[in-house]
Amino acid sequence: MKPQERADYINEQEIEGILAPRPRPEQAKVRELLAKAREMHGLTMEEVACLSHVESPELLHEICSTAKQVKEEIYGSRLVLFAPLYISNRCANECTYCAFRATNTALKRRTLTQEEIAEETRILIRQGHKRVLVVAGEALPPQGFQYILDSIATIYDTRVGPGEIRRVNVNLAPQTTEIFRQLKAAGIGTFQLFQETYHRPTYAQVHLKGRKRDYDWRTTAFDRAMEAGIDDVGIGVLFGLYDWRFEIMAMMQHIRHLEQKFGVGPHTISFPRIEPAVGSEIATRPPHAVSDADFLKMIAIMRLAVPYTGMIMSTRETAEVRRATFAVGISQISAGSRTDPGGYKDGEGDPNGSQFQLGDHRTVEQVVSDVVSLGYVPSFCTACYRTGRTGQDFMDLAKPGEIKYHCHPNALSTFQEYLCDYASIPAKAAGEKLISIELQHMDNQQTACALPMLNKVRRGERDVFV
Ligand code: SAM
Ligand code: SF4
Repeated sequence: MKPQERADYINEQEIEGILAPRPRPEQAKVRELLAKAREMHGLTMEEVACLSHVESPELLHEICSTAKQVKEEIYGSRLVLFAPLYISNRCANECTYCAFRATNTALKRRTLTQEEIAEETRILIRQGHKRVLVVAGEALPPQGFQYILDSIATIYDTRVGPGEIRRVNVNLAPQTTEIFRQLKAAGIGTFQLFQETYHRPTYAQVHLKGRKRDYDWRTTAFDRAMEAGIDDVGIGVLFGLYDWRFEIMAMMQHIRHLEQKFGVGPHTISFPRIEPAVGSEIATRPPHAVSDADFLKMIAIMRLAVPYTGMIMSTRETAEVRRATFAVGISQISAGSRTDPGGYKDGEGDPNGSQFQLGDHRTVEQVVSDVVSLGYVPSFCTACYRTGRTGQDFMDLAKPGEIKYHCHPNALSTFQEYLCDYASIPAKAAGEKLISIELQHMDNQQTACALPMLNKVRRGERDVFV
């Protein structure tokens, strides 16, 4: 392998050097860091390490309340919703934690046809979704990568009345720069890829076969994606494989690398924890299981460390854990998910075709109603990506806090669209009430923008955004 292909910016020695002393942080030091974090310029690796060692309930509470403040300042009360769309569970790799791994004979294999993908999309549209995340195992059908490109086109082309999917993100295997160019041309939003673990020895232990064994090919995927013009990339770690403190420090190194090389870091960070999976021993007993308390602490610290980055919570987690994470930093959530190809049509989802067990089994409407009852505005907005506000442009807009003049009115208008087209009568009433409360809390500039947009949607116009 050529030297530049090695991801040597993930530097284990640097991480161990910063984490090893494990000092019990002084109260004054922690408060000084939290004061800095409130300025919303982020935190260094040393500062992240220091906060990760906090154990005192009082200081933990202060970390969480600072994260809440920072999140509200940047994101207001919005929570963006999406659904995963699994198109194939065939895979050539052997990841010990995943039900889709090649030698798992307990799994029912399925690769959806284009008509089946259109059917799944129609179901998601009828539930009110506007964003999907295409997910697939790493074995392509005979038509090769064209299958993925066709699937994206099918999703964008599918319509149900006024409903449509407006942003397709993908969670797929690492690709060559040339294939990333094709993905960009297909109109994807974010290219999402989880490193699983940044710890090389653990990575080697859990990836037994196939292309995924190559740690560096995976880590350098974002460099190739960004070189191919994909501005929005989504990073993540599969928590439970190795020490979470090590993983978030390595994530900081990865972010630093992307910022230095491309002038912008990842668009999103995902926080998947390992869930039980058919035919996987390690998924039932993860070697470094992260407790709920550490999980919340970690999310809060990352919100302070990279304040402008979107943070995603999936339905791997229970409703209760998800609610707690919204308060400390999560800005995007999936809802009503199935992780087996064809699972939306099949209703309940097939445990023997699924990637892992879900923690949150509620419908989209139940999630929306819960989110509304907590005072958050469910957003189905896809405007930034479609108006070219991606990568650096998005960050430039986000950083001065200007995003509230775009995102908040857009959240309200897309939520209004959801209420008009898909909500039940009680859900609509609760939603309308929330919108009127939100309008009361807006400044004049925001109201002047949001009100005409809401009125247009109420009169029947669709896809209204700024
Ligand atoms: N096959 C591609 C890959 O591995 O990157 C993309 C899709 S894979 C189905 C999506 C993600 O699911 C993986 O990156 C992994 O982090 C996560 N995953 C796998 N097994 C899991 C489990 N048992 N519990 C929770 N998440 C899991
Ligand atoms: Fe295949 Fe991805 Fe599952 Fe690994 S995590 S077995 S690559 S689907």
